[in-house]
Amino acid sequence: MGAETTERLYGVCDYYDAEALLTDAERRVLGRLRTFLDEQAKPLLADYWERGDFPDQLTGPLIDLDLMEPAEVTGPPGPGHTPARGIYHGFRIFELARSDASLATFYTAQAGLFRTAVTVGASPEQRAEWLPRVLDFSLKGVFSLTEPEHGSDIAGGLATSARRDGGDWILNGAKRWIGGALTADVLAVFARDEADGQVKGFLVDRQAEGVTLEKIHGKASLRMMQNANITLADVRVPEPMRLHNVNSFRDVAAMLRMMRSDVAWIATGTAAGAFEAALRYVTEREQFGRTLGSFQLVQEKLARMLGNVTSALSLVVRLTEQQDRGVYRDQDSALAKMQTSLLMRETVALAREVVGGNGITLAADVARFHADAEAIYSYEGTHDINALIIGRALTGHSAFTH
Ligand code: FAD
Repeated sequence: MGAETTERLYGVCDYYDAEALLTDAERRVLGRLRTFLDEQAKPLLADYWERGDFPDQLTGPLIDLDLMEPAEVTGPPGPGHTPARGIYHGFRIFELARSDASLATFYTAQAGLFRTAVTVGASPEQRAEWLPRVLDFSLKGVFSLTEPEHGSDIAGGLATSARRDGGDWILNGAKRWIGGALTADVLAVFARDEADGQVKGFLVDRQAEGVTLEKIHGKASLRMMQNANITLADVRVPEPMRLHNVNSFRDVAAMLRMMRSDVAWIATGTAAGAFEAALRYVTEREQFGRTLGSFQLVQEKLARMLGNVTSALSLVVRLTEQQDRGVYRDQDSALAKMQTSLLMRETVALAREVVGGNGITLAADVARFHADAEAIYSYEGTHDINALIIGRALTGHSAFTH
């Protein structure tokens, strides 16, 4: 525990007290986020998950918490804006995911994906204009990279096209899985320039002529998060809405490198949420006249879950400290995403197991984590793709195509 005497926020799921790295101001904002989640969000989660809807009434109060700002600063963000510390950003995601992975994904669609598209992809002038509106959510955006025919092989396969036409660009193609697209103002769309074959980025007005969105139904994971298929048919985008710093897929890869660490925090928070729900359950439920938690075999599973959560948290904290020092390498965030996802997958399965039959009901609070973990395991680079990124760094051989 740090020097302050206030109660710890994360208790057992932060076993080695990574929270001590936060400032008091950061902990206060995270405490307010906790209160919002406990009082306003948690009572809605099971119902909305079952219905496959997002609780839109949470969006306003979540935005009002000003989570994207550094905890110490108040007032509107300006062009010279100082970004929040990585460790604080990470714990905000952890806290959200500990309650619900869709809420964390919804938040990172704006705070991670879209914000990164603007901070990395926009020119300094564009950034000065757009970033304050990204941070206060008055410009809501999404990251549209994946396509129906190209997921893991998007780097070489990206087929959406862009053609220059005077002062505009004409976009044609399709995107798949885009989280938050149905309620966004703009879609950050990545398309291949017909002239030079390079991938470029565009902020496309969601309501522009030729843009069609279709909600993806029938998901068995992250049911609350709204994902969409997007069709682009001769969509006209003015040149000033092109992301001027995106000139090849290398620039998109730089964004992915930054965003993958957010997903590692989501995986860690999801594992923590499932572990905590399981721990609560086994201390209350009795069989053979004793609480489940008093049995040796259950304690072994609790110990493994705690070990997984502690390993994952230690990993993301260290990665984030490196990134705060400016060290960004593909293999580092790929390793964190791959490893935390593996640890999460085992943890949610153990949590579900110790809750027995009730573990498959939403009421016991582990089934949601168990199901949602599958989407996290696959998005922003599957296990295999992240392993291949690490393998390439270790051996110097790219093994993506054989
Ligand atoms: P595929 O590429 O078809 O892969 C299928 C399987 O084959 C995987 O197991 C994969 O690991 C394996 N595989 C593929 N290639 C290889 C290889 N070379 N070697 C070994 N194994 C291989 N995308 C966005 O752009 N924006 C979003 O907001 C977004 N949100 C998402 C939200 C959800 C809930 C989901 C499920 C996806 C989202 N995605 C989004 C897309 C996501 O990033 C892709 O699903 C992911 O990159 C994998 O692509 P794929 O689903 O097409 O799988």
